[in-house]
Amino acid sequence: MLLGAHIGIADGLAQAARTGRAIGCEAIQIFSKSPQMWAGPPIPPTAAEEFRAAVRAEGLRATAIHHGYLINLASPKRPMLARSRRAFLDEIHRADLLGVDGLIFHPGAHLGSGSEAGLKTIAESLRLALEEAPDSKVSLLLENAAGQGTSLCATFEELATVIAEVDGGSRIGVTLDTCHLFASGVDFRTDESYGALVDRIGRILGRGTVRAFHLNDAKADLGSHLDRHENIGKGQIGLEGFRRLVNDARWSETPGYLETPIDERGYDRYAEDLRSLRELVTPPSPPRPYRSPARRSPRRASTVK
Ligand SMILES: [Zn+2]
Ligand SMILES: [Zn+2]
Repeated sequence: MLLGAHIGIADGLAQAARTGRAIGCEAIQIFSKSPQMWAGPPIPPTAAEEFRAAVRAEGLRATAIHHGYLINLASPKRPMLARSRRAFLDEIHRADLLGVDGLIFHPGAHLGSGSEAGLKTIAESLRLALEEAPDSKVSLLLENAAGQGTSLCATFEELATVIAEVDGGSRIGVTLDTCHLFASGVDFRTDESYGALVDRIGRILGRGTVRAFHLNDAKADLGSHLDRHENIGKGQIGLEGFRRLVNDARWSETPGYLETPIDERGYDRYAEDLRSLRELVTPPSPPRPYRSPARRSPRRASTVK
């Protein structure tokens, strides 16, 4: 697995790439703007070029944008849905401008309209997005939900339903968040349960559909449906729960992004989580040179869901 983390962009897009590399990331996920805003200021072409150059210079092997939190592609309220679809299209354009591989997004919440209607609305939203951005190179990656509230796609079956209905080929994929998986009731802490998980991924989604992971331990119990991230090895999944995943050759070229809590040490906390994961890899992967990033903005990263 290409190990990485969600890095804040308060110090600029290009700095996020440098910070990522400095703490040992092979891959980074960013927000393209404040995640609590509908629209961000346009990205100047020079800033985009600087970001691309920094990604190359730092040798990062995968990049992704995580969309903003206001977007709900399943909303039953027409004005909100229209606004969400516009904002999503803007995220796609920003992702293409920055040249990132994936746009990771929460499929949506049905807000009482029911799962069936919600899943149909998500599929329609994605079909429209593909149509309106025909030349886009970015993969649209649905993130599995923890199953909190009316959020959709906490199961492989729901993800598969949307993907089948969109019929977007390789432009559509999935990001699996380990905390959300665990919260949704999927155990993968033993050889047997991990094997069953991989089997279900292959059967229901198709293994190639999973293009990224979010590597988060879980504060809450198996099947709690609570979306509470914990540092690697400190939660209910535990170190052993990650060992099989990071050693699985099937995901060797797949990025895995940390979205774990950050404390007063800032991104040094991420560096520790990355080390915990690398120590699980057998044979050990070569240590990444570690240097403390010159500047950090931990607060931005700690809010990722
Ligand atoms: Zn989460
Ligand atoms: Zn997310």
